[in-house]
Amino acid sequence: MSNLKDLKVVITGASSGFGMEAAKLLVKEGCKVTLGARREDRLKELCSELGDSAAYSVTDVKKKEDLDALVKTSIDTFGGVDAIVNNAGIMPLSLIKSGRIEEWDDMIDVNIKGVLYGTNAVFNHFMNQGHGKIVNISSVAGKRVNPGTAVYSATKYAVDAISQGTRMESAGVIQVTCIFPGAFVTELAKSVKDEAVIEMFMKRGLGKIAQPAEKVALSIKYALEQDQGVSINDIIIRPTAQEM
Ligand code: NDP
Repeated sequence: MSNLKDLKVVITGASSGFGMEAAKLLVKEGCKVTLGARREDRLKELCSELGDSAAYSVTDVKKKEDLDALVKTSIDTFGGVDAIVNNAGIMPLSLIKSGRIEEWDDMIDVNIKGVLYGTNAVFNHFMNQGHGKIVNISSVAGKRVNPGTAVYSATKYAVDAISQGTRMESAGVIQVTCIFPGAFVTELAKSVKDEAVIEMFMKRGLGKIAQPAEKVALSIKYALEQDQGVSINDIIIRPTAQEM
């Protein structure tokens, strides 16, 4: 029997992009998914498409209590939680000289604190039950920095650090995977408002080589389908045409 059959998976940032594609794929594979994001209309629509195998809770990952409530929704609806995909993230890239402080604060809150809150919401539960899977979504920007990515990269390096720390502190119980995607087609780039960075990125032509979000969903599935004996620590997945 597949390791994914009846696996209870919590996914943050499930209203679009990787989170939404992962939810669809995982339900096809037999998982029970509990979806979190802020846009309730999107979550409701996705849940009605996925049927009894999906539940949702409106979640702002900046709020610890929302992540606790999301995990509780999985326990109340499906009888437990086996995995969390800390996927919610934003990417309002900007130059340091532009001083877009609110965007920096927002990225730090969503991309770092959101992952920490999600991890803490399941950590003791996983330790007590003796198993659990955590998939964190970093970025290739968490492996190298480009002009305009300083703050976003800092948050994504932090996701790597949180993944490593979680792996060490869970003493071989929790399977922790950190995924580092390159350019894939989602709504993420819409949050970039700094004109200088938009121009820079247009020149790099990433939009033209970006690959479908479903490919990243497949790597999330790969991390989750491993049995307890095996952990996939890191996955870098990028368009072949994207330099790295
Ligand atoms: P999308 O913009 O399509 O999805 C982002 C998701 O995060 C949405 O569901 C959004 O939902 C959710 N989100 C944003 N802010 C919050 C918040 N405060 N609380 C809860 N949910 C929130 O982009 P992607 O699918 O691309 O992004 C998913 C992850 O992948 C991110 O961490 C991103 O940094 C990372 N990534 C993406 C790459 C790409 O090329 N697409 C490359 C490398 C990494 P809502 O607005 O409804 O709350």
